[in-house]
Amino acid sequence: MLESSQVLPRRMTSDLQNLIELQQIDSQIATLRAEIAALPKHVAAIETRLAGSKAKVEVALAAGKADDAARRKHESDIQDQQQRISKYRDQSLNVKTNDEYRALMHEIQFAEASIAKLEDKILELMVAADTRQETLKKAEAELKADAAENGREKEEARQRRAADEKELAELASRRNDLRAAVNEDVLRHYDRVLQLRRTALAAVYENQMCSGCSVVLRPQVFQDVMTNEQFLTCDTCKRILYYVPPPPKPEEEKNTKKTAVSEAAPRSEGSSSASIS
Ligand SMILES: [Zn+2]
Repeated sequence: MLESSQVLPRRMTSDLQNLIELQQIDSQIATLRAEIAALPKHVAAIETRLAGSKAKVEVALAAGKADDAARRKHESDIQDQQQRISKYRDQSLNVKTNDEYRALMHEIQFAEASIAKLEDKILELMVAADTRQETLKKAEAELKADAAENGREKEEARQRRAADEKELAELASRRNDLRAAVNEDVLRHYDRVLQLRRTALAAVYENQMCSGCSVVLRPQVFQDVMTNEQFLTCDTCKRILYYVPPPPKPEEEKNTKKTAVSEAAPRSEGSSSASIS
């Protein structure tokens, strides 16, 4: 196991450079994996929305069928009442007493009242049918739009996944190359800290702090880190340290370009203040 600030018996510059790129790649891989993992959830959400639209259409269709059935039932009940009336009328021709006659007339009135009520109900259903038709049309239009949107979004998700997986494969290949080029002990340390802290490297600037945990380095450690030629870790967070020199002042830029230092310095992590020239 590597102790903090231990110097490995080999020049670390290329390892540091490889590690810095490795960490960028590991971070990109984590982002892509998270994106890929979130895609099924996204697809499930758009499927749920489509199912909701389908259900609305089904409810509207079912309501229509129920109304149609109710209307047929009312029409059949009206026929029954009409048959009853004609039967009473036939019977009324043969009655012997006024009381019998009045009773039959009463039955006829009752049947006629029932028919009137049923006709009202049919009329209500006819009026409601217009609204119901509107609701159904609207639900069908929404379903059509949602189905198109669903298809589009699913295709987008499919393409995103394919693109992510292609990028992942490329990154994995580059990652393997980088890992093969790094000292095994260093790699083990890198992996352990990455797992523990999500980043395994920390840049060190002129403020002499570990940018991973903000602890100020001991002066000797800072001096060593500045060489970028040793494997050094933060005493506190164990991240692998590398030095990022301040950007040169404009008048110095011409003179310091293409020096040995710039050739050997590791690439920055994309932070604007971390640029190495
Ligand atoms: Zn630290």
